[in-house]
Amino acid sequence: MLEAEYLPIPAGIVLPGAELLFDHLADAVYLIDPDTSCIAWGNRKAWESLGLDRDDVLHHSVLSLQKDVHGMPQWSEIAGAIRSGECFRFIGRHRHQKGHEVEVEVNTTHFKLDGREFFLSVARDITRRVAQEAEAQRREKQLWFALNESSDGLWDWDVATGVLFFSPQLKRMLGYGPDEMAPVLETWSSNVHPDDFPQVMAALEAHMQGKCFRYEAEYRIRNRDGHYLWVHDRGRVCEYDANGQPGRVVGMVQDISARKTLELQLKEMASSDMLTGLANRRHGTDFLKAQVELCQRLGLPLGLAFIDIDNFKAINDVCGHLVGDEVLRRVGQTVKDGVRGSDMVCRWGGEEFIVIAPNTGVDAMGLVAEKLRLAVMREFASHTPPVTISAGVAAASGLSMAIPVLLEDADAALYQAKQGGRNRVVLAKAADLD
Ligand code: GH3
Ligand code: MG
Ligand code: MG
Repeated sequence: MLEAEYLPIPAGIVLPGAELLFDHLADAVYLIDPDTSCIAWGNRKAWESLGLDRDDVLHHSVLSLQKDVHGMPQWSEIAGAIRSGECFRFIGRHRHQKGHEVEVEVNTTHFKLDGREFFLSVARDITRRVAQEAEAQRREKQLWFALNESSDGLWDWDVATGVLFFSPQLKRMLGYGPDEMAPVLETWSSNVHPDDFPQVMAALEAHMQGKCFRYEAEYRIRNRDGHYLWVHDRGRVCEYDANGQPGRVVGMVQDISARKTLELQLKEMASSDMLTGLANRRHGTDFLKAQVELCQRLGLPLGLAFIDIDNFKAINDVCGHLVGDEVLRRVGQTVKDGVRGSDMVCRWGGEEFIVIAPNTGVDAMGLVAEKLRLAVMREFASHTPPVTISAGVAAASGLSMAIPVLLEDADAALYQAKQGGRNRVVLAKAADLD
């Protein structure tokens, strides 16, 4: 180095000798002979940190001190790398006299003095840093393990890059291998059931905009073989960018198919009639209430037909209850087949059914009931005793929507149909129709 390159010493300050300065350095400094890797000189930290005496360090070389450098060929390679750049960085382990290892980061420069080449290495003890990093890694592993154990899958979405990480468990849950499922939002969104998609996206959007504390949704997602699984998915933004926008969102997914299937079965059981599979009276009543509200709001009529099997007791008596049950099922199916998908057929009780038809006036409802009556006759054309139905029809307009009145009117009309000789349809009196 040239004299002129030294920094001028501030006035009034007397510097000690260079060796004394080096001996007060926190890092170990080694002067190395590039050809042999032998230590030509070291500061206090150099020998102290290795548990050596001042002179002992001179009997060592990089090869004897560095656990991660094996033999001259490797040293030659390293020496070449040191010569080719300004500063060569190496992370390794020094052998301490007491047998343990010291994690070090070594920065080496090269220079020539009086025509002789030297390497100057500054080694910093990074034991604590390495231990901290290992601890942080261990914690992260532990966290992911715990999260994975408490869910069937994890996802981690980098909003800016659009990369969506799917954990191996999540892929397995959906029937994919570890290298399948492209890590993009599309992979997930394109497999969400179309009927659930708007609700799922709305929940995610609400959370992203800060309107909800977390994103949470139950929906169906298609697995690899095309079947849908029911999942419970919840997540949260865990990082925001400099503009306060969500930067990273992580979440966990639980396969709830078994629970959901049971739930849907229970719901189905609670709302349907065991014998006929039609809606039961409770479900029918709920539907009627909802439709009355809707029709009233839209100013539309609502038709209702009370249907009762004629002389059913005789069918039971002559053919037995099992045949009676079968007749009930077939009448229910015939009625159901004869109405629109938007209409509801419900088993009201015993051998009575109700048809609820939104946007249908009394005359149109009368025609529907008549069509059903004929359909039942056709279905049971050769049956003995004969199987026929009677129906009482009523309708409510936007002005008169009281459900009890509607049911009473239809019931009264049914009574008239029975009185009139059965196997017929009677419309409720006009006064109730407005
Ligand atoms: P009407 O023409 O006046 O309606 O005469 P009906 O015999 O149909 O009327 P009634 O009310 O006298 O008899 C209805 C019968 O329906 C009595 C009852 O045992 C039978 N029933 C009710 N529920 C069931 C059922 O789930 N299965 C069977 N097999 N019979 C039932
Ligand atoms: Mg009856
Ligand atoms: Mg009857």
